[in-house]
Amino acid sequence: MVRPVVTVVTGQDTSDGAGVRLKRVIGTPALDHLDPFLLLDEFKSDRAGDYIAGFPDHPHRGFETVTYMLAGSMRHRDHKGNQGDLVAGSVQWMTAGRGIIHSEMPQQKDGLMWGFQLWVNLPAKGKMIPPRYQDIPPERIPETRAGEGVRVRVVAGQSDGTRGPVEGVVTQPLYLDVSMAPGARFQHPVPAGYTAFAYVYEGEAELGASEGRAGSRLTAGTLAVLGDGDAVAAVTSTSPARFLLLAARPLREPIARYGPFVMNTRAEIMRAVEDFQNGTFLD
Ligand code: FE
Repeated sequence: MVRPVVTVVTGQDTSDGAGVRLKRVIGTPALDHLDPFLLLDEFKSDRAGDYIAGFPDHPHRGFETVTYMLAGSMRHRDHKGNQGDLVAGSVQWMTAGRGIIHSEMPQQKDGLMWGFQLWVNLPAKGKMIPPRYQDIPPERIPETRAGEGVRVRVVAGQSDGTRGPVEGVVTQPLYLDVSMAPGARFQHPVPAGYTAFAYVYEGEAELGASEGRAGSRLTAGTLAVLGDGDAVAAVTSTSPARFLLLAARPLREPIARYGPFVMNTRAEIMRAVEDFQNGTFLD
């Protein structure tokens, strides 16, 4: 059964870090979270003033941050000296666990910077695990054809027998970057009971149509929350479309969040803030 579109949400213009302009799609009053997804930002600008200040040193605890780049380059550096460049087409899946302090800074003075940051929650028993990085260069993300005029980059999970490079994530995510030509059809299995959404970032597509039921038209900058079912369907007409298709196992646990800390209780948040202030955050 094809999942229907339950809600359509439009991203909100905001800024974060040291003044990076971005569109926040999950983590807003309109859509606080979509268990286990806590936040989705799209940053896209060819004006250096919108991104050059970057994200100087800041902490994370209790969840995972996933950065997927379409254009431009960001340098990542953490408190342990781990460093890497996130270039166009790459993904960094960072499991912050008990704590990381890092910076994410643009490595360009002009030109287009375009990408996404997604936050994925960790279960209570995994919130304090040691940090872990999966830095995946562009050539390690396989691209498959999923029918006439449809290309799929498989970041995480599986598409038509092709496995994405991201491994060992407890919520068993599916992360696909789908490109559709005009007049194309796409259908993809997603396990029933998993949370699923599609975020259209270019062009226009109709999501959620099935026999006897019209879908919802989504334009760039809008997200479709997908209801129950075991497949996702998208159709393009005169425009091409590019969208992210995400699914994961919901945690169904209480969420206590405060800025870069996401725990289960308020006491755990207080502890995270104290640890950070006392310099014991990383012990
Ligand atoms: Fe960060």
